Amino acid sequence: MLYNQVQDLKGTIRVYCRVRPFLQGQTNGQSTVDYIGENGNIMIVNPLKQGKEARKVFSFNKVVGQNVSQEQIYIDTQPLIRSVLDGFNVCIFAYGQTGSGKTYTMSGPDMTTEQTWGVNYRALRDLFQISKERSDFIRYEVGVQMIEIYNEQFTLTTSTLDIRNNSQLNGLNVPDASWVPVSSTQDVLEFMRIGQTNRAVGATALNERSSRSHSVLTIHVYGKELVSGSILKGCLHLVDLAGSERVDKSEAVGERLKEAQHINRSLSALGDVISALAQKSAHIPYRNSKLTQVLQDSLGGQAKTLMFVHISPEVNAIGETISTLKFAERVA
Ligand code: ADP
Ligand code: MG
Repeated sequence: MLYNQVQDLKGTIRVYCRVRPFLQGQTNGQSTVDYIGENGNIMIVNPLKQGKEARKVFSFNKVVGQNVSQEQIYIDTQPLIRSVLDGFNVCIFAYGQTGSGKTYTMSGPDMTTEQTWGVNYRALRDLFQISKERSDFIRYEVGVQMIEIYNEQFTLTTSTLDIRNNSQLNGLNVPDASWVPVSSTQDVLEFMRIGQTNRAVGATALNERSSRSHSVLTIHVYGKELVSGSILKGCLHLVDLAGSERVDKSEAVGERLKEAQHINRSLSALGDVISALAQKSAHIPYRNSKLTQVLQDSLGGQAKTLMFVHISPEVNAIGETISTLKFAERVA
């Protein structure tokens, strides 16, 4: 079957696999990635197994390795951003074990360096750019919200932003008071900086905590067509998921075990929803987790989904790498 036909069959769910490079100091390590094919295949070699058992091929819409830049990663995402402004709902997820590069893909290593910006900032930049290009025909308003889901509970991470001086949403139906109206990428950068700071309050080790919570940045777009007066609404969810690593039940106790169970449950609920959608199943099990409840309107129907699955090339990650790729193949 032709590649394009395969893509059509997969409907609006796309899965990209990204392999992060070895980190500094590990450059001579043995890699579990045997090869990356042009056609979306990746061959994994498991050093713990022998013969035929040792090699396995997984297939996705696309697989990218360490030589692929942040900009190149983003290019395929751009059409989705455009469709948000056309009134579609879009979800972009980063999935993978802790340390595999989820935050690198979504936010980038450093907010202040535009060249290494992740998908979040590039998406916002384009959103404002395209809305400006269309301003003769459509007037857009953009609102942002950032939430964290930890142990199946929401926390709003940006409620402190002062919005009194920013009343551009006048006359529009803003669904919730926690929406912050924004008019430029700069506004959003500031907003996200505050969100990150709030997130850190009370969490002694931000990285520890962030690896165990889902972070959801939602951008709501309202467009008013100037001639017809008709309104369109689109929505973009950018989701940096909790680390997918399984926790050894014999070792984890108390809070740690509870966290692990919540994460497992919500990630498998997400997998169930996406695979049910991919199979055009009659029943989509949205109610099984907070994450899928929050995203319900943006998963399925006319909505479009892109999942970046991340793997680490190190040999000691092989177990998680294989389970990540199996998860991803199930939703693809
Ligand atoms: P996660 O969010 O999945 O826990 P991170 O995004 O924090 O993982 O990445 C872990 C480390 O690997 C960070 O130091 C990050 O800068 C680095 N890293 C991840 N992906 C890449 C990449 N594609 N290129 C270079 N460095 C990367
Ligand atoms: Mg992270």
